[in-house]
Parts: sequence; C-alpha cells; structure tokens
Amino acid sequence: MGRERRAIIVGGSMSGLLIGLLLQRSGWRVDIYERAREELSGRGAGIVAQPELIARLSRLGLKTDDLGVHIARRQILNVRGEVTNAIGCAQVATAWERVFRLLRRAFPDAHYHRGRTLKGLTQTADGVTAQFAGGDAADADVLVGADGIRSTVRQHLAPDVMPLYAGYVAWRALIAEDRIPRDTHAAIFDIMSFGLPAGEQFLSYPVAGPDNDLRPGHRRTNVIWYRPADEAGKLKWLLTDAQGRTHDISIPPALIRAEAIAEMHDAAERLLAPPFRALVGLMDEPLLQPIYDLVSPRMAFGRVALIGDAAFVARPHVGAGVSKAADDAAALADALEVHSDVAAAVAAFEAARLPENRRIIEWARHLGAYLQATRTQAEQASAGRHATDAAVIRETATLDFLYA
Ligand SMILES: Cc1cc2nc3c(=O)[nH]c(=O)nc-3n(C[C@H](O)[C@H](O)[C@H](O)COP(=O)(O)OP(=O)(O)OC[C@H]3O[C@@H](n4cnc5c(N)ncnc54)[C@H](O)[C@@H]3O)c2cc1C
Repeated sequence: MGRERRAIIVGGSMSGLLIGLLLQRSGWRVDIYERAREELSGRGAGIVAQPELIARLSRLGLKTDDLGVHIARRQILNVRGEVTNAIGCAQVATAWERVFRLLRRAFPDAHYHRGRTLKGLTQTADGVTAQFAGGDAADADVLVGADGIRSTVRQHLAPDVMPLYAGYVAWRALIAEDRIPRDTHAAIFDIMSFGLPAGEQFLSYPVAGPDNDLRPGHRRTNVIWYRPADEAGKLKWLLTDAQGRTHDISIPPALIRAEAIAEMHDAAERLLAPPFRALVGLMDEPLLQPIYDLVSPRMAFGRVALIGDAAFVARPHVGAGVSKAADDAAALADALEVHSDVAAAVAAFEAARLPENRRIIEWARHLGAYLQATRTQAEQASAGRHATDAAVIRETATLDFLYA
C-alpha cells in the first residue's frame, strides 16, 4: 500500500468542488482552500444546466431530478411585443447557487477551509507547497488552481495571461415571480425570451426561487441584458461610483450610480418589448458585469493544474462555464487515476482539455461578436453570421452546435 495521496485545491467554487469530490472519491486526501470568509452564495446568476453538466453531477451520485425549471420553448419579441420567431428547445434552467449548494453539501466541512487565501506556491520533484496569507503553508502531491478569472495560481505561473475585455457588459438580475405583472408573466415567464435591439441582446428565462423553490409563484426570472460599452468611455463611466472612484474590473451593485441605472431604464423604454420593459422596471439593484475572454496557453505546470475559469473564460452566450469546469475536473481526475506520476498526469490532462477549451472560447466569441462596441475584420464577419434572429434563437446557450 502506498501512502495517501494529497491534493490542495485553491478556490472552493464550482470547479474546486467538482475536482475535490472526484479526487476524494478516488481515495485522495483533498483540502479545499477558499478565500471568502462567508459561504459563497447567490451571485445573482441563473444558469442553463446543460445535459452534459447534469450527466456529470449524476455520475457523482448527486440528485439532479429537481435541479431547476424545465423550459420547452424559445421566442423573440420585437419592440412592439410581437413574437417574430419561436422554436421548441427543451432545457433546464437553474440558479448558480442551486448547483453550488448541491456540490458543497457533498463535500466534508472538515476539509473545506474558508477565509484562506493562497499567496504563493513552490514545487519540487517530490511535491508542491502552498503558502497562505497569515504565513502558514500546506504540502501536497498536486495543487489545482480552481481560483477563477483572476486566479492567483495562474498569476504566479503565467503572469502574462490576462482577461481581455470583450467590448460589452451584461446587466443582470433575478426577479421574484410574484412581483411580475400578470400580462408580462403570461407573455414571457415560461419561455426563454429574447429581445434583439440592434447590436444588443436581452434575455429572460425562469429559474428556481430561493432555496430551490420550484412552486409556481415562488420562482424567479433571470434577466440578462448585453449592451455594448467601449472600454475608454462608456465602460469607465459605468464603473465609476458616486464618489468618483472608477472600479477596476467590476463594481459592487450597491455602488452603481443611480444615473447609470436610470440610463439603462430609459434605454429599455426605447428599445425593448413591453414585457421586457416591465422586467427592467423591476431591476432595482441590478448587477453590472463587464464581459471578458480569458485564454491560457497552458493548463499544466508540473504538479500544478489550472481548471475552470482560472484557465479559460468563455463569454456567457454558450452557457458552458460550469459544464466546461466539470469536464476539466473529470479529465484531471481521470489522468491522475491512470498515471502514477503526477506531472505526467497533469500533462495528459492538459493535452486532453486545451483543444476543447479553445473551441468553446472561439464559439463564444463568434456568438458575442455582434455585441462588441468595436470589432476586428474577422469579428465583423463572425458578427454577420450570428446576428440574424434565426441564428440567435437557435445557437444561444446550447452546446449542440459546438459539438455538432
Ligand atoms: C452572465 C453569465 C452567465 C453565465 N451563464 C452560465 C450558464 O448558463 N451555464 C454555465 O454553465 N455557466 C454560466 N456562466 C459561467 C459560470 O458561472 C462560471 O464559469 C463558473 O461559475 C466558474 O467557476 P470556477 O469555480 O471556475 O470559478 P469561480 O466561480 O470564479 O470561483 C473561483 C473561486 O476561487 C476563490 N479564490 C480566488 N482567488 C483565491 C485565492 N488566492 N485563494 C483562495 N481562493 C481564491 C474565489 O473566492 C472563488 O470562490 C455564466 C457566467 C456569466 C458571467
């Protein structure tokens, strides 16, 4: 019998929990270190649970039959509220928090360490050491950077890789079903509904209510409105708070200026169908999320692996973020099962996942090209192909075209 193999996971969100659970089930001693002191929650996000993600969760033995709200149809509404396009498309829409809690409950508290921030790491032929804020350290056979778009692990090993602003932002909110006026509810609630003003995209679909409440009347509508914002002008304006401070990457919802929200509300009156205007009117404290691409040329660094958003961030139009994280985690766990040499396993994982991740990023760029404030020639061509109503309604938030 060899000694117990140890894994350090940096980041206790989706990717961290997915790889943590898989390695634990293969007999590893796994410790997850999460920077946030409080349990992660909310993030105002509804997500489409792709069949690929549901299959991965089921394979972990997690219960997925009540994961979210079943949607059967999609439609596009013009500014007058007329349905200009509609298709059947069966999907499950859930809340980020719902998937997170499912994973979090399955992982033992004793090995999930909150309020622990990775500061640095060193590795030798025999192992890897993580150094944390506060001065303590931990040793392991493998370290997984599952620490998101601003990954400390990546900054350490590949400092030149930076997120690239895509040229547009998403206004987002979850709106309680019982606040939605009856006629608006009838027009859009059960349907994935798009509004397509020139160069913009509005999207709404139903998700579970708080605590996974799926009862009619207790669910929520997930609203996302993509709007172009050039980096030097509009984005800067949006990210500047009432004290005149311009935030770097994103701005906390409470600090978004009333005039920025008012401008978005005014635009809704001019550009969106009446049901969407009603939803925007209910977005009291929206989230503002600048959209980024992140492409890491490597995922393997000796005994250190990068997974999920730490390695690749795709624009949200594919709806692939969590299923991509789950595929990274599964590939890494498989490679560590097959190869006893950790560095060889991490290299094999990279070989399996780099091409796939690049493909997802490219597809997401294609879907989002027509929303950008500025475009290269190639992006202009891509924008042309996806900008038609028929393409948007068929290609958004599904992996079918990616894997076709
Ligand atoms: C508008 C929008 C819509 C989306 N829709 C979908 C969808 O429909 N379907 C889908 O699958 N995905 C969707 N996504 C993407 C999905 O939410 C992300 O891909 C996914 O949550 C990333 O998980 P992660 O664990 O890799 O990173 P994160 O969730 O970012 O987690 C990283 C964690 O690491 C921690 N951390 C950071 N630095 C350190 C450190 N130094 N030490 C310790 N801990 C640290 C952070 O606190 C954080 O908890 C969407 C995203 C957006 C923006």
